[in-house]
Amino acid sequence: MTLANPIPATLVPGDGIGPEISAAVVEILDALGKPFAWDVQEGGMAAAAKSGDPLPAALLDSIRRTRLALKGPLTTPVGGGFRSVNVRLREEFKLYANLRPARTLIPGGRYEDIDLVLVRENLEGLYVGFEHYIPIDGDPHAVAIGSGVNTRAGCRRIAEFAFDYAMKNGRKKVTIVHKANVLKALTGVFLETAQQVAKTYEGRVAADERIVDACAMQLVLKPWQFDVIVTTNLFGDILSDEIAGLVGGLGMAPGANIGEGAAIFEAVHGSAPDIAGRGIANPLALLLAAAMMLDHVGRFDDARRLRGAIDATLREDGVRTADLGGKATTGDLTQAIVRRL
Ligand code: NAD
Repeated sequence: MTLANPIPATLVPGDGIGPEISAAVVEILDALGKPFAWDVQEGGMAAAAKSGDPLPAALLDSIRRTRLALKGPLTTPVGGGFRSVNVRLREEFKLYANLRPARTLIPGGRYEDIDLVLVRENLEGLYVGFEHYIPIDGDPHAVAIGSGVNTRAGCRRIAEFAFDYAMKNGRKKVTIVHKANVLKALTGVFLETAQQVAKTYEGRVAADERIVDACAMQLVLKPWQFDVIVTTNLFGDILSDEIAGLVGGLGMAPGANIGEGAAIFEAVHGSAPDIAGRGIANPLALLLAAAMMLDHVGRFDDARRLRGAIDATLREDGVRTADLGGKATTGDLTQAIVRRL
C-alpha cells in the first residue's frame, strides 16, 4: 500500500550504525505505506571526507526545501576545528523547541506506564554563552561570570509550542517548570509569560507549575502526575535525561528539534562505532523519531499504527535486540515489525 501524497523529507543516514538503522526505518515506513518521499543526503564523516564539511551545502539546501528531516547519528570529527553539526543546524533553522517524549516500551522496568513529553527551549537561557572571567592577583580564573538571556518573545514562542503540541496530541496538561523563586528575572519572565499563554488555552489544556528541584524529585517519586512539561534550556537539558532514565535510558529515546525553518527528528543516541556494520544495532530510537515525524505532519493514524506495531513486537512477540536483552538482529526486529504492520 502507498499512501496518497508522500511528503517530501530529507533523510540523512549518518555515520556508524546510522546507515543500518536508517535502512531498517525506511523498510518499516515502506510497509506503513511510504508516507515520506525521501531526499537522501550525506552528512557526517563520509561527507567530511569528501567535501571537507560534515554539514555540506547540499544537505542544508535539501532541508531548506523540505523543511523536514530524519537524521541518523553523526560522528563529531575530533580535531580539525569542526563546529558541532547539531549547533549549526539549530542556528541555521532556528530550532527553538526540543521535544523529548518518554514512554514505557518494555514492561518489568523500574516504572510501568510512563507516558510524558518534555518541551525544552533550545536557543536562549544560560546556553547563550555570555561568559567571562575576571582575573585577580595573578589567578586568571579568580571570578567566573555567566549571564542567561530569556526574552518575552522566546518564552511566549516555546510556551505556545508546548500548549499547541498538547492540544494537537490529545494531551491534558502542561506543567511549567522554572526557578522563579530565586532567579526572579531570568526564569520569572518565563513563568509569567507561560502563565499568560496558559490562560489562552483555559478549558482546552490544563496548566500547573513547579519549581525545578521539586519537579526533579516528583519525577522520581510519582512521574505519572506529569503529562507535558515545558521549561527553559538548562533545566530542560537536565530533566530530559532524567526522564529518559525513567524508561530505561537514552538507548530508545527519540527527539525532535523544531523551529521556524524546519523540523529535524533523530535518535538521541550516537553513531555507536563499537557495533557499526555488525547488523545488531537497535533501530527503535530512530523509528520512534519517525513516529514523531508522522505526528508532526498530522499523520496521527500512521503514527499510532507504527507505535502499536513496535509495542506488539516488543511485548507480545518478544523480539528484542541485544541491547534490550534479546538475540534479534537489526534485520530480525525490522521483519517482525513489518509483519505486525
Ligand atoms: P553512542 O550513543 O554512540 O554509544 C554509546 C553506547 O550505546 C555504545 O556502547 C553503543 O554501542 C550503544 N548504542 C548506541 N546506540 C545503539 C543502538 N541503536 N543499538 C544498540 N546499541 C547502541 O555514544 P558515543 O559512543 O559516546 O558516541 C559515538 C559518536 O556519536 C561520537 O562521535 C559522538 O559525537 C556521536 N554522537 C552523535 C549524536 C547525534 O548525532 N545526535 C548524539 C550522541 C553522540
